[in-house]
Amino acid sequence: MSDNKVCNKCGKSYVLKMDFGKGEKEYSYGLIDARVFGSYHSPILDDCTSYQFSLCESCLVDLFDSFINPPIVYDVTAFDSLPLFEEKYDSPKKRVKNDK
Ligand SMILES: [Zn+2]
Repeated sequence: MSDNKVCNKCGKSYVLKMDFGKGEKEYSYGLIDARVFGSYHSPILDDCTSYQFSLCESCLVDLFDSFINPPIVYDVTAFDSLPLFEEKYDSPKKRVKNDK
């Protein structure tokens, strides 16, 4: 885990500080400390190597929006993240633009 709490792509912090009545705490948003591993048969990544990175939510949405096949999206419960039902991917950035 990295102590540097910034997005690898844009360099901005992925941490928000909030206070819900028990003092200010930090919350991380995005894809945090993701790791991928290269192996002997990897077509591009180096063998016996792991790559660790974090993407803030904004850069994560940019990545989603670049996909030929959009991510699978599930509506989930707030407490246990169990998938309730699948929905169509609707880019949050494009949705915000269309709401203006
Ligand atoms: Zn970013």
